[in-house]
Amino acid sequence: MKDYEVVIGLETHIQLNTRTKIFCSCKADSWEDEANTNICPVCSGLPGTLPVLNAEAVQKGALLAAAMHAEVNPLSRFDRKNYFYPDLPKGYQITQFDEPIGKGGYLDLKMADGTKKRVRIHKLHLEEDAGKTKIEHGTRLVDFNRCGVPLIEMVTEPDLRSGEEAAQYLIQLRQLLRWIGVSEADMERGHLRCDANVSIRERGSQVLNTKTEIKNVNSIDSVRQAIGEEAKRQIELVESGGKVESYTLDWDADRNKLSLMRSKETEADYRYFRDPDLLPVKLSREEIAGIMAALPELPLERQARFVTEYGLSEYDADILTNERSLSDYYEAAVGAYTGEPKAVANWMMNDLSRMLNDLGKTADQLVLGPKALAEIIQMIDDGKINAATGKSLLKKVEESGSRPAEIVEKEGLGLIADSDALRAQIEAVLADAPDEVANFKAGKESLLGWFVGQVMRRTGGKADPKRTRELLLEMLRK
Ligand code: ADP
Ligand code: ZN
Ligand code: MG
Repeated sequence: MKDYEVVIGLETHIQLNTRTKIFCSCKADSWEDEANTNICPVCSGLPGTLPVLNAEAVQKGALLAAAMHAEVNPLSRFDRKNYFYPDLPKGYQITQFDEPIGKGGYLDLKMADGTKKRVRIHKLHLEEDAGKTKIEHGTRLVDFNRCGVPLIEMVTEPDLRSGEEAAQYLIQLRQLLRWIGVSEADMERGHLRCDANVSIRERGSQVLNTKTEIKNVNSIDSVRQAIGEEAKRQIELVESGGKVESYTLDWDADRNKLSLMRSKETEADYRYFRDPDLLPVKLSREEIAGIMAALPELPLERQARFVTEYGLSEYDADILTNERSLSDYYEAAVGAYTGEPKAVANWMMNDLSRMLNDLGKTADQLVLGPKALAEIIQMIDDGKINAATGKSLLKKVEESGSRPAEIVEKEGLGLIADSDALRAQIEAVLADAPDEVANFKAGKESLLGWFVGQVMRRTGGKADPKRTRELLLEMLRK
């Protein structure tokens, strides 16, 4: 068998998290609403209505284009894509055809082995979503709630080479969308949907062979599996003397199977033309500059900075920049703490992460703020509390909203560092162990550890270990 490589280009549909739909004032997110309760004459396509463009959708679309390093188009236009389907009440979808909001660009993927892989973006365009249909008891039902929800369709160049790379693209795109705040990017809710174009060729070849398009690969696992299955099918077909035909395939995630939907329609079938009801979208040089300025530091940039600025490992920096709120929290905590930044990283990656998981919260939703975390770690460093108390404080601060020091004070959780108090405890221990004291004095100094242990037991672990040692030596050597 020849050595084949898989060539993949992805088309993703991203639901922008605007307050209202793209051309009317219905709310954009109606996930929990009953069918056809979130519609109006505009989005349900009644004759005589006119679309009014939502500026927030343009802003968020342009911000995404900028984050993808695309060229933000100062003049983009809306077109009608004509087709007949029951979920499309107007008989056409408003989209952008030849003058999209963003052209070119790329997303740099970080691969598991630490290497980077650049995936070029062909274009990004704004469009409205269609409705949904389903069959119930033999009747086809249609729900228009989703009609007019703002989408960005983003198309890559055929730069991906495996199902795993395609999965990474989706994972890292999802992270970026949340990071810049343009989409909730929840795949289960259809905020991020994907069609995969797949072809094969002999490794080393540069030709683009006939591809198939797999629709509805709407989870990370589906992307991996569907592409793997399709590549296998094409290779077997070609190896047995057949030819790949330009099909549209459907991925059935319940049965992990591909099925043929139709032989693919061509662009001409859609009879694209400019939408006469909408003006061109103009973005002035100042507006584009404003969008660029609003772009936050991106995940990979921040990750690299965490390594150089805080001396973190790549691994730690990767985890702490998984989510923007987590990385903001980290920086704020490091800023409030005088010790090593690595100590804060350890706390966040272990105890704090566990707490976030248990509570189902993101870092910005915690009552326990970054300053409180820094204060807890600092108290351990300063010998005011022990590590176990520090851990228990996380939960106590989260539940009460009190400052860590207040809780330590109120509940008497502090270590006993006061010399008189410690001396009294040590005296009691020594009085109870005359044999050990005699042995120590006779030269068995290794007993020191045992004495420290006894003091800890008497004080329920609250004796400051360093101070205890010092005082023990002083008193035993007297
Ligand atoms: P179509 O005309 O079928 O819509 P496009 O050229 O618009 O095809 O590309 C759609 C998607 O398919 C893009 O993501 C592109 O990168 C990808 N693509 C194009 N040609 C190939 C190919 N031979 N193999 C795999 N993917 C491809
Ligand atoms: Zn509406
Ligand atoms: Mg196309």
